[in-house]
Amino acid sequence: MVDGTGIDTAKVREEGLSVAILGAGAGGLCMAIRLQQAGITNFTIYEKADRVGGTWRDNTYPGAGCDVPSMLYSYSFEPKLDWSRRFAAQPEIEEYFEHVARKYRLYPHIQFGSEVHAARFDEATGLWHLEMKDGREVTANIVVSGVGQLNRPFTPDIPGLESFEGIRFHSARWEHEHDLTGKTVAVIGNGASAIQFVPEVAKVVKDMTIFQRTPNWVVPKADRPYKEWEKKLFRAFPFVARLQRWLIWMTLERNFLAFTQGSFFGKLFEKASKKALEDAIADPDLRRKLTPDYPAGCKRILLSNDWFPALARPNVHVDDHGVERITREGVVTKDGVEHKVDAIVFATGFEATRFLAPMDVAGRGGLDLNDAWAKGAEAHRGVALAGFPNFFMLYGPNTNLGHNSIIFMIECQVNYILQCIEAVKASHARYIDVKPEAMAEFNSELQRDMQKTVWAAGCSSWYKTEDGKVTNNWSSFTARYWWEMRQPDFEEYSLAGANT
Ligand code: NAP
Repeated sequence: MVDGTGIDTAKVREEGLSVAILGAGAGGLCMAIRLQQAGITNFTIYEKADRVGGTWRDNTYPGAGCDVPSMLYSYSFEPKLDWSRRFAAQPEIEEYFEHVARKYRLYPHIQFGSEVHAARFDEATGLWHLEMKDGREVTANIVVSGVGQLNRPFTPDIPGLESFEGIRFHSARWEHEHDLTGKTVAVIGNGASAIQFVPEVAKVVKDMTIFQRTPNWVVPKADRPYKEWEKKLFRAFPFVARLQRWLIWMTLERNFLAFTQGSFFGKLFEKASKKALEDAIADPDLRRKLTPDYPAGCKRILLSNDWFPALARPNVHVDDHGVERITREGVVTKDGVEHKVDAIVFATGFEATRFLAPMDVAGRGGLDLNDAWAKGAEAHRGVALAGFPNFFMLYGPNTNLGHNSIIFMIECQVNYILQCIEAVKASHARYIDVKPEAMAEFNSELQRDMQKTVWAAGCSSWYKTEDGKVTNNWSSFTARYWWEMRQPDFEEYSLAGANT
């Protein structure tokens, strides 16, 4: 019998195979649901925090929201028909994931306050031993990491940082207890997070200086509230919402064309961004500061209607001299000027290229993940890693996008991983491991394709390591990823101890 959640309750039974999912964010929750629907109920989600939602629980800065339309930034199997606007804000997205966890009865499977800090594979038993930060140890046959790419905020080690006596925090861990009203505030960084909170915070502060290292291409965001009649229509005819989701996916998919070097579409983004800049900002010097000198898409193209107008406010300044050091009272730039401030907000992004770090992961024969990834993270199809059997990743290396929804990618990965788990279960194998040669071939093709993209062009971004290897982004259309991930090619894997 299949109930309203799609779970075949007759099939649900206790399984021998145990699955540990790390993280109760968009990836971990999706994996759990699909396991349940496949009748694999012996799984536990280990979540370091005390609530579900991942990045949507952590990023609560003013103005936080998603720059992917919500109709598509939601699971295909759990459409929400009453999004308040095209691009929902963080509280509504967080509530969506909480709703999903409730509806699919995932809470009994979640252990909150459980941060896995080490994972070791035992080849003889085919078991992973997971060690929690609080000393607890658990075992599981399969580990699926849902920690993603953007969970550890990065704060640069600027000289004098510790001496600052005012308020300081990172945008991804906003300290709401500090009221910034009437204060003089420094913002270091101007990426996707800064462009969302600066327009909000600028309205209340006395003065704000944004310390910019590199300008971004910022294009208008086609956002608006959904009208009541539209929501009624979606509720009455859910296929209309599904059609809209599909149209959004197609439109965003087309945008991938902008990420090829020298692309005509890339030039269109640049034109749109320059027009928005010219419309909002009269000061030629400020316009010059805000005009990038690298191709659009090399860093994430940012969507905003209020970023440039916020920068035109008399109480907002953009300083691009470069931060030299921090003092007790403020920020000193490379031109020798000390900017005295009450608060510093670091909008300096995440430790994105380190993926599973600082987790200590040891695979077959004690193979250390840090050694395996010494030249930059890579994985087989973004999900598996040779020498680390029964270990899978969601939103792993080379699965980030600049143009479409990560939820779409996660669903492809979950579908693929589930089939790998089912293969282990059906064959009673001790473990499944991707063949090193298959992984090497996949990655050399991926990096070859990558050379045609703007990410390989000469700008620095969180998509790549200091050596220039693009470790984070998928190199093509999401349609290609979907096609390649429909089912695993088991020729690429070895199943140890399988009944064949
Ligand atoms: P980010 O895009 O990595 O931006 C970090 C900013 O900090 C950049 O402006 C960077 O300058 C600056 N910076 C870093 N180190 C610095 C240093 N030592 N001194 C001075 N400036 C420094 O980080 P983010 O804005 O948090 O966004 C990260 C990612 O999160 C996004 O790309 C996106 O994938 C995701 N995100 C998504 C949404 C959404 O709406 N879906 C919203 C927010 C974030 P440079 O550019 O010169 O490196």
